[in-house]
Amino acid sequence: MIVFDLRCGAERHVFEIWFGSSQDYEDQKARGLVACPYCGDTAVEKAVMAPRLSAKGNQKGEPAQPVSLPTPEGMKDMLVAMAALQKKVLANSTYVGDRFADEARAIHHGEKDERPIHGKATSEETRSLIEEGINIAPLPFPVVDPLDEN
Ligand SMILES: [Zn+2]
Repeated sequence: MIVFDLRCGAERHVFEIWFGSSQDYEDQKARGLVACPYCGDTAVEKAVMAPRLSAKGNQKGEPAQPVSLPTPEGMKDMLVAMAALQKKVLANSTYVGDRFADEARAIHHGEKDERPIHGKATSEETRSLIEEGINIAPLPFPVVDPLDEN
């Protein structure tokens, strides 16, 4: 997994998205699948991580610092963006609860139609899915079980 700081063309929102590889990023971007979590704009580009304080009257054009520790504010923005993204991703995904491992395996073997799913898996199940070469990823935030909601 690799994380990119991205910026949308419309409003210049800066956000962060995880990809399997930088090739994944290129592919998804080319297919218009990489969208700003704030405004949905798909004209995104890799953000140059200049200090975000620079709007405060510092016009000297200092060289951008490629890596800086996120400020608490930046951290919060990032979490908000990630939560929004997860919500968006899950909107198109079917919750399969405890059957996650079985469903993922069935889809992997072509026994079921390929579709996005999410659900619960034990660490044991997770390990064997990965060993079988099944493409799964942990969600950054816990998901409320729709069955528990009422
Ligand atoms: Zn945006």
